[in-house]
Amino acid sequence: MSNKSIGLNDELHAYLVRVGVREPDVLRQIRERTASLPEHNMQIAPEQAGFMSLLVEIMGARRCLEVGTFTGYSSTAAALALPPDGHMVCCDVSREWTDMARQAWADAGVAERIELRLGPALETLDALLAEGEAGSFDFAFIDADKENYDGYVERALRLVRPGGVIAIDNVLWSGRPADPSVTDESTQAIRALNEKLARDERVHISMIPIGDGLTLLRVRPH
Ligand code: CA
Repeated sequence: MSNKSIGLNDELHAYLVRVGVREPDVLRQIRERTASLPEHNMQIAPEQAGFMSLLVEIMGARRCLEVGTFTGYSSTAAALALPPDGHMVCCDVSREWTDMARQAWADAGVAERIELRLGPALETLDALLAEGEAGSFDFAFIDADKENYDGYVERALRLVRPGGVIAIDNVLWSGRPADPSVTDESTQAIRALNEKLARDERVHISMIPIGDGLTLLRVRPH
Protein backbone atom coordinates (compact mmCIF):
# COMPACT_ATOMS: atom_id res chain seq x y z
CA MET A 1 0.00 0.00 0.00
CA SER A 2 1.10 3.50 -0.70
CA ASN A 3 -0.13 7.05 -0.54
CA LYS A 4 0.51 7.54 -4.22
CA SER A 5 -1.06 6.18 -7.40
CA ILE A 6 -0.03 2.66 -8.28
CA GLY A 7 2.15 2.01 -11.33
CA LEU A 8 0.70 -0.40 -13.89
CA ASN A 9 2.79 -3.10 -15.51
CA ASP A 10 1.31 -4.89 -18.54
CA GLU A 11 -0.16 -7.70 -16.43
CA LEU A 12 -1.89 -5.34 -14.01
CA HIS A 13 -3.12 -3.13 -16.85
CA ALA A 14 -4.67 -6.16 -18.58
CA TYR A 15 -6.35 -7.07 -15.30
CA LEU A 16 -7.67 -3.54 -14.85
CA VAL A 17 -9.13 -3.53 -18.36
CA ARG A 18 -10.64 -6.98 -17.89
CA VAL A 19 -12.45 -6.30 -14.63
CA GLY A 20 -12.79 -2.50 -14.66
CA VAL A 21 -13.69 -1.47 -18.19
CA ARG A 22 -16.85 -2.23 -20.12
CA GLU A 23 -15.69 -1.64 -23.66
CA PRO A 24 -18.53 -1.91 -26.19
CA ASP A 25 -17.75 -4.02 -29.29
CA VAL A 26 -17.82 -0.93 -31.48
CA LEU A 27 -14.99 0.61 -29.43
CA ARG A 28 -12.99 -2.60 -29.49
CA GLN A 29 -13.34 -2.62 -33.28
CA ILE A 30 -12.01 0.96 -33.54
CA ARG A 31 -9.05 -0.05 -31.40
CA GLU A 32 -8.33 -3.03 -33.62
CA ARG A 33 -8.60 -0.99 -36.84
CA THR A 34 -6.44 1.80 -35.41
CA ALA A 35 -3.72 -0.64 -34.31
CA SER A 36 -2.52 -0.90 -37.92
CA LEU A 37 -1.74 2.84 -38.12
CA PRO A 38 1.76 4.06 -37.23
CA GLU A 39 0.13 6.72 -35.04
CA HIS A 40 -1.91 4.19 -33.04
CA ASN A 41 -0.36 5.39 -29.76
CA MET A 42 -2.39 8.58 -30.12
CA GLN A 43 -5.48 6.63 -29.15
CA ILE A 44 -6.52 6.93 -25.53
CA ALA A 45 -6.43 3.92 -23.21
CA PRO A 46 -9.64 1.87 -22.80
CA GLU A 47 -9.77 2.69 -19.09
CA GLN A 48 -9.58 6.38 -19.92
CA ALA A 49 -12.45 6.13 -22.39
CA GLY A 50 -14.44 4.27 -19.73
CA PHE A 51 -13.67 6.98 -17.19
CA MET A 52 -14.60 9.84 -19.51
CA SER A 53 -17.83 8.24 -20.68
CA LEU A 54 -18.87 7.71 -17.05
CA LEU A 55 -17.98 11.34 -16.36
CA VAL A 56 -20.14 12.53 -19.26
CA GLU A 57 -22.96 10.36 -17.94
CA ILE A 58 -22.59 11.57 -14.33
CA MET A 59 -22.59 15.18 -15.48
CA GLY A 60 -25.72 14.64 -17.52
CA ALA A 61 -23.82 16.37 -20.32
CA ARG A 62 -25.80 17.20 -23.45
CA ARG A 63 -23.20 19.07 -25.49
CA CYS A 64 -19.58 17.98 -25.87
CA LEU A 65 -16.59 19.40 -27.71
CA GLU A 66 -13.53 17.47 -28.81
CA VAL A 67 -10.24 18.89 -30.11
CA GLY A 68 -8.29 16.09 -31.79
CA THR A 69 -10.62 13.32 -32.94
CA PHE A 70 -8.16 10.95 -34.65
CA THR A 71 -9.99 7.68 -35.49
CA GLY A 72 -12.95 8.29 -33.21
CA TYR A 73 -12.35 6.19 -30.13
CA SER A 74 -12.91 8.90 -27.51
CA SER A 75 -15.68 10.67 -29.44
CA THR A 76 -17.61 7.42 -29.88
CA ALA A 77 -17.25 6.64 -26.17
CA ALA A 78 -18.47 10.13 -25.23
CA ALA A 79 -21.30 10.19 -27.78
CA LEU A 80 -22.60 6.84 -26.51
CA ALA A 81 -22.88 8.45 -23.06
CA LEU A 82 -24.94 11.38 -24.36
CA PRO A 83 -28.74 11.37 -24.46
CA PRO A 84 -30.28 10.72 -27.91
CA ASP A 85 -30.65 14.46 -28.57
CA GLY A 86 -27.11 15.18 -27.35
CA HIS A 87 -24.68 16.98 -29.61
CA MET A 88 -20.95 16.76 -30.06
CA VAL A 89 -18.61 18.94 -32.12
CA CYS A 90 -15.40 17.18 -33.18
CA CYS A 91 -12.36 19.05 -34.50
CA ASP A 92 -9.53 17.51 -36.50
CA VAL A 93 -7.33 18.28 -39.50
CA SER A 94 -7.16 14.77 -41.00
CA ARG A 95 -9.71 13.54 -43.52
CA GLU A 96 -8.12 10.09 -43.49
CA TRP A 97 -8.35 9.59 -39.73
CA THR A 98 -11.81 11.10 -39.42
CA ASP A 99 -13.13 8.89 -42.22
CA MET A 100 -12.39 6.04 -39.82
CA ALA A 101 -14.13 8.00 -37.06
CA ARG A 102 -17.20 8.55 -39.27
CA GLN A 103 -17.39 4.81 -39.84
CA ALA A 104 -17.23 4.23 -36.09
CA TRP A 105 -19.95 6.79 -35.39
CA ALA A 106 -22.20 5.10 -37.94
CA ASP A 107 -21.46 1.65 -36.50
CA ALA A 108 -22.24 2.92 -32.99
CA GLY A 109 -25.47 4.61 -34.11
CA VAL A 110 -24.30 8.03 -32.91
CA ALA A 111 -23.51 9.73 -36.24
CA GLU A 112 -26.48 12.08 -35.88
CA ARG A 113 -25.14 13.37 -32.58
CA ILE A 114 -21.75 14.34 -34.01
CA GLU A 115 -20.74 17.32 -36.12
CA LEU A 116 -17.24 17.04 -37.61
CA ARG A 117 -15.37 20.24 -38.37
CA LEU A 118 -12.24 19.64 -40.42
CA GLY A 119 -9.57 22.33 -40.20
CA PRO A 120 -7.16 23.92 -37.75
CA ALA A 121 -8.96 23.72 -34.40
CA LEU A 122 -7.97 27.20 -33.24
CA GLU A 123 -9.94 28.54 -36.22
CA THR A 124 -12.86 26.19 -35.53
CA LEU A 125 -13.03 27.21 -31.88
CA ASP A 126 -12.89 30.89 -32.83
CA ALA A 127 -15.69 30.24 -35.32
CA LEU A 128 -17.81 28.59 -32.61
CA LEU A 129 -17.29 31.65 -30.40
CA ALA A 130 -18.23 33.92 -33.29
CA GLU A 131 -21.38 31.81 -33.83
CA GLY A 132 -22.45 32.63 -30.26
CA GLU A 133 -21.59 29.26 -28.74
CA ALA A 134 -19.81 30.68 -25.67
CA GLY A 135 -20.89 28.81 -22.54
CA SER A 136 -22.88 26.29 -24.59
CA PHE A 137 -20.80 23.14 -23.93
CA ASP A 138 -20.90 20.94 -20.84
CA PHE A 139 -17.74 18.97 -21.50
CA ALA A 140 -14.64 19.46 -23.64
CA PHE A 141 -11.82 17.02 -24.35
CA ILE A 142 -8.51 18.38 -25.62
CA ASP A 143 -6.13 15.90 -27.23
CA ALA A 144 -4.38 17.42 -30.24
CA ASP A 145 -1.03 19.09 -31.11
CA LYS A 146 0.59 20.05 -27.82
CA GLU A 147 2.10 23.33 -29.07
CA ASN A 148 -1.41 24.77 -29.36
CA TYR A 149 -2.77 23.37 -26.07
CA ASP A 150 -2.77 26.74 -24.35
CA GLY A 151 -4.81 28.26 -27.18
CA TYR A 152 -7.26 25.36 -27.10
CA VAL A 153 -7.70 25.58 -23.33
CA GLU A 154 -8.24 29.36 -23.40
CA ARG A 155 -10.98 28.97 -26.01
CA ALA A 156 -12.51 26.00 -24.20
CA LEU A 157 -12.68 28.10 -21.04
CA ARG A 158 -15.05 30.39 -22.93
CA LEU A 159 -16.99 27.70 -24.79
CA VAL A 160 -17.69 25.51 -21.73
CA ARG A 161 -20.35 26.72 -19.32
CA PRO A 162 -19.57 27.53 -15.67
CA GLY A 163 -19.75 24.23 -13.81
CA GLY A 164 -18.77 22.34 -16.96
CA VAL A 165 -15.59 20.30 -17.31
CA ILE A 166 -12.55 20.48 -19.59
CA ALA A 167 -10.37 17.36 -19.82
CA ILE A 168 -6.82 17.74 -21.16
CA ASP A 169 -4.92 14.65 -22.31
CA ASN A 170 -1.20 13.81 -22.15
CA VAL A 171 -0.44 16.23 -19.32
CA LEU A 172 2.21 13.85 -17.92
CA TRP A 173 3.65 13.26 -21.45
CA SER A 174 5.58 10.10 -20.53
CA GLY A 175 7.16 11.96 -17.60
CA ARG A 176 8.96 14.57 -19.71
CA PRO A 177 7.41 17.73 -18.14
CA ALA A 178 8.96 16.78 -14.78
CA ASP A 179 12.45 16.42 -16.30
CA PRO A 180 13.98 19.91 -16.74
CA SER A 181 16.57 18.55 -19.18
CA VAL A 182 13.81 17.86 -21.77
CA THR A 183 13.20 21.06 -23.71
CA ASP A 184 11.46 20.13 -26.97
CA GLU A 185 8.55 22.33 -28.02
CA SER A 186 5.72 19.93 -27.11
CA THR A 187 7.14 19.23 -23.66
CA GLN A 188 7.68 22.91 -22.97
CA ALA A 189 4.11 23.71 -24.03
CA ILE A 190 2.66 21.06 -21.70
CA ARG A 191 4.98 22.06 -18.86
CA ALA A 192 4.02 25.74 -19.16
CA LEU A 193 0.30 24.92 -19.33
CA ASN A 194 0.50 22.63 -16.28
CA GLU A 195 2.27 25.36 -14.27
CA LYS A 196 -0.28 27.95 -15.35
CA LEU A 197 -3.32 25.80 -14.56
CA ALA A 198 -1.90 24.78 -11.17
CA ARG A 199 -2.65 28.31 -9.91
CA ASP A 200 -5.45 29.34 -12.27
CA GLU A 201 -8.32 30.82 -10.24
CA ARG A 202 -10.79 30.36 -13.10
CA VAL A 203 -10.97 26.61 -12.50
CA HIS A 204 -10.93 23.80 -9.99
CA ILE A 205 -8.28 21.29 -11.02
CA SER A 206 -7.47 17.65 -10.56
CA MET A 207 -4.69 15.98 -12.52
CA ILE A 208 -5.45 12.28 -12.85
CA PRO A 209 -2.61 9.78 -13.49
CA ILE A 210 -4.67 7.75 -15.97
CA GLY A 211 -3.30 6.95 -19.42
CA ASP A 212 -0.60 9.56 -20.15
CA GLY A 213 -2.07 11.94 -17.54
CA LEU A 214 -5.45 13.67 -17.70
CA THR A 215 -6.16 17.07 -16.19
CA LEU A 216 -9.78 17.79 -15.26
CA LEU A 217 -10.77 21.43 -14.97
CA ARG A 218 -14.13 22.49 -13.61
CA VAL A 219 -14.96 25.96 -14.87
CA ARG A 220 -15.85 28.36 -12.07
CA PRO A 221 -18.55 31.01 -12.50
CA HIS A 222 -17.08 33.95 -14.42
CA1 CA B 1 -3.65 11.75 -26.39
